[in-house]
This record gives sequence, structure tokens and C-alpha cells, in this order.
Amino acid sequence: MTDCDLCGRGIPTVIPVRVNPPLLKFAYPEGVWKGLCETCLDSAQKVHMGNDKNELSCRKGKCALCQEKGRVFAVEIQIPDFSQGVVKKDKTLCSRCLKAVDESYIKYKREEIGGHGHGHEHEHEQSKH
Ligand SMILES: [Zn+2]
Ligand SMILES: [Zn+2]
Repeated sequence: MTDCDLCGRGIPTVIPVRVNPPLLKFAYPEGVWKGLCETCLDSAQKVHMGNDKNELSCRKGKCALCQEKGRVFAVEIQIPDFSQGVVKKDKTLCSRCLKAVDESYIKYKREEIGGHGHGHEHEHEQSKH
């Protein structure tokens, strides 16, 4: 069981997203892996898609994934709640993390469509002599 890094939901597998926390830059120059559930990945990706047109949703704050302070975007997260079912809450993500979410999203969807087992397409092209 793993917890989603945004909503805290406990799920068997999370979708990995690589972020680059500025505070851990020296310890982890390659970045660190965060795990998001599908719902959070979906909402964050939607915000990323609307980023260019919707500059108004941009605010000053701290990114929920990499902890960087600066320009962040609000992502609506559904947090599981025992008494109310789900509670909607805004989490703020910086544009770099949103970009990382988008990359993971594309990869995740591709794998989902492609099915499990074999990720490579078979090529039957023969080399010319
Ligand atoms: Zn989540
Ligand atoms: Zn960030």
C-alpha cells in the first residue's frame, strides 16, 4: 500500500512523477520520485493543459510536490474523508511539476492503451543488402 503524495489516498500502486525539489538539489541532482493516484494525476494534467490560456489561476505560493516557492497553480484534489466521503481541496503546484505530471500522464496512458506484457512493437523490417 502506498499513499498518494497529493490527496493521501492509500492505493496499491501510484503513478510515479519525477520532480526536482530545490532543497534536495545537491543530494538528488536527478530529482526525486513522487507518487500520485490517477485522480490527482488527472486533475493536475488538466490544469497543465489550461496553463497558457489561464494565467489568472496562477498565484504565489508553495508547490505541494517540490516545495518550491513562487508561481503556482491551483489543482483541485479530492481528499477521502470518513464522514463526508470526499472533501475537495486546492493544492498548489508549480509549472515544472505540472510539466512532470503531464509527462507521467502521457506515459501512463500510453501504457494503459498498449496493454501490459509487451511494451515494444515488433518490427519485421529486414535489413537491406
Ligand atoms: Zn491522489
Ligand atoms: Zn513543484
